[in-house]
Amino acid sequence: MDPAGDAEVVAELAALVGPDTVVAPTADDLVRHTEGYGVEATAAARIIALALPRTTAQASAILAWCNERRIAVQPQGGLTGLAGGAAPVGPCVVVSMQRMRRIRELDRAASTITVEAGVLLETVQQAADAVDLLFPLDIGARGSCQIGGNVSTNAGGNRVLRFGMARELVLGVEAVLADGTIVDALHKMAKNNAGYDVKQLFIGSEGTLGIVTAVVLRLFPRPRSVCTALCGLAGYAAVLELLQQARSAFGPQLTAFEVMWPAFYRVGTLDLGRQPPLEAGHGAYVLLETMGLDPAQDPARFEAVITAALQSGTIADAVIAQSQRETNALWTVRDSSGEWQRAGFWPELSFDVSVSTGEIGALVEELDAALARRWAGLDVLYFGHVADGNLHVGVRMSGHSIPARQIEEAVYAVVAARRGSISAEHGIGTLKRDFLHLSRSPEELALMRLLKQAMDPRGILNPGKVL
Ligand code: ZN
Repeated sequence: MDPAGDAEVVAELAALVGPDTVVAPTADDLVRHTEGYGVEATAAARIIALALPRTTAQASAILAWCNERRIAVQPQGGLTGLAGGAAPVGPCVVVSMQRMRRIRELDRAASTITVEAGVLLETVQQAADAVDLLFPLDIGARGSCQIGGNVSTNAGGNRVLRFGMARELVLGVEAVLADGTIVDALHKMAKNNAGYDVKQLFIGSEGTLGIVTAVVLRLFPRPRSVCTALCGLAGYAAVLELLQQARSAFGPQLTAFEVMWPAFYRVGTLDLGRQPPLEAGHGAYVLLETMGLDPAQDPARFEAVITAALQSGTIADAVIAQSQRETNALWTVRDSSGEWQRAGFWPELSFDVSVSTGEIGALVEELDAALARRWAGLDVLYFGHVADGNLHVGVRMSGHSIPARQIEEAVYAVVAARRGSISAEHGIGTLKRDFLHLSRSPEELALMRLLKQAMDPRGILNPGKVL
């Protein structure tokens, strides 16, 4: 389509849903809506029109119109994804959900909140907190990511071991199909075995089967106590021991069990000019968090469990946060991957893989042999949500000339040999599309294509992603 054709699309869509709802993109829009977070724009990417629906009906009208004319639609949320799922790869109409920001209902009896797709994750958390409840999904981008994107990508984060991924927190979905059909599956029931679970089609499918416009989310009692400790351990065998001890001591109160390998810990503390909360020199570091309902008893019990693990030799050293400031300081080390640029660890190639929890130690060994030992001098950092079997790997790309593709192939070969996943929580988007077959059987891929063909026969929805 030529630029004159573009203007025509803008004019016709604007006539359909209003001139302030569909606009020609400005130069700033082109930059903001073309580059996914950390993903380079492809040369063919072109935004024909920027659509900013305020209602589900408007989103429906826009999709129906585009489907009729076979014009690609690029759904977008907060643009914080890590796999390029929101970045256009060809000419398209961007449908940004940023104006669908209503909290439709908070139902205390059902313990649910119904929100539109463009509501920020942090806003959902705050709305729950205001009525003494908890929405537990939490990721670093909480202040800019949107709940529609969290659900569409089935976001994970630090509390998955207790509350599950986004998928487990969704009771109902409202979505618009490629042809504009509105699917209202905004149920609030925890139990609903009446046929197929339709909402799951839209969760984690990255906007390729429909655009999520609203969701019903589960809420939980707000915790009265939060206890946090950083532990130094000899190695992964001790990490597994501590995990068993923490699980049996805390049960469902255990909400985070984050592991950092030594090089990660060094970058997250000393390299960023930060005093390490625990001295360096340990084989592994675990950030452990519990949430409870008894502020009088929980901290003492937490300390007793940590002390017992010290005495039995499971952990070599530990520091327990005594204030919110100290808690934040411990989490800052774990969340330091966002600051790697400042530590000279940039550009960076990141991985998000999973195998079973017991295999993570061996996986790190094998990856290290495939990377740092194969290519001398390659800097590789390991950390992850090991209770979920999820390992993140960061590779510094400056200072060497090894192509990213070779490093990707080396990592994914190791993961595939263990029948692991090449994407534990970040999704496939464009970045991991070439490797999807390593984690899914031909039959699984065929079923995915069948679903895509059935739900989006003209292939207008988020083309070039996932499959
Ligand atoms: Zn993660």
